[in-house]
Amino acid sequence: MALLQTEGLTAHYGDFQALFGVDIELAEHETVAIIGANGAGKTTLMRSISGVLGNAPSAVRFDGVEIGTLPAEDIVSQGVAMVPEGRKLFPSLSVEENLLIGTYGRKTRGHWNLETIYELFPILSERRHNPGMALSGGQQQMVAIGRALMSNPRVLLCDEISLGLAPVVIKDIYDAVPKIKQAGASLIVVEQDIAQALAVADRVYCMMEGRITLTGTPDSLSRDAIYDAYFGAS
Ligand code: ATP
Repeated sequence: MALLQTEGLTAHYGDFQALFGVDIELAEHETVAIIGANGAGKTTLMRSISGVLGNAPSAVRFDGVEIGTLPAEDIVSQGVAMVPEGRKLFPSLSVEENLLIGTYGRKTRGHWNLETIYELFPILSERRHNPGMALSGGQQQMVAIGRALMSNPRVLLCDEISLGLAPVVIKDIYDAVPKIKQAGASLIVVEQDIAQALAVADRVYCMMEGRITLTGTPDSLSRDAIYDAYFGAS
C-alpha cells in the first residue's frame, strides 16, 4: 500500500482549473520527483496535498486515511510537511527561531531536533543567532528544509528547492536528500531541472497542463519520452 496517494485530484483557482485528475503514489522510504515546465501544476499539486487548497475527501490518502479535507495544520501533525517554493522564512527571526516554528503542533517524537538539523546543515549552527534576512539564498533554503523537518514528518514535500541557487549550493542542498531518507522520511521533490530530478529520484512523474504525462524509474525513461511529456509531442 502506498504511504501517500492522490486519486483523481483536481484543483481550481476560481474558474481556472489547474489540475485534472492527478493520480500519484509515494511508497514508504521512496523519493519521487515531479518534473514539468512553468505552469504545469507542480506547485498546485504540492499545495493540494498539504491542505492549502481544498480537496475532495478521498482525493488524498495518507497511511490509508483520507486527508483530502483536513486543514493544513492537521496534515502537518499527521506527518506530511512542506518546504514551500520561495522558502517563506520570518525575515526578522533568527535561524533558530525559524527552526523552532517547525515544532508547532508537533505530536510525534522522532529523529529531528535542533541538534540533528545542525548536523545536517552545519552552517546553520554557525548562523543560529542571525536573522533570516541576513542569510544567503542557500542558507535560507536550508532553514526552510530544517523547519519542515522539525515536525518529524513521514513525508516531506519539497517545492523547487534548487530554484535560483548556484550549482555548488544546489549540491549541498541535494546532498541532504539521501540523509533525510535514511532518517526515515519519504520525499516528493518538485524540480524543473530534469537531470537533477533523475539523479535524486527513485521514480519520476512528469506533468504538463495539470495532468501526469509520464511516470517511471529514471533508468526506464528515454530522453525523447521525457522531452515529449515535458514540452508536448511535436
Ligand atoms: P512554476 O514552476 O512556475 O511554479 P508549476 O508547475 O508549479 O509552475 P503552478 O504554480 O501549480 O505550476 O500553476 C499551475 C497553473 O495554475 C498555472 O497556469 C498558473 O498560472 C495557475 N495558478 C497558480 N497559482 C494561481 C493563483 N493563485 N491564481 C490563479 N491561477 C494560478
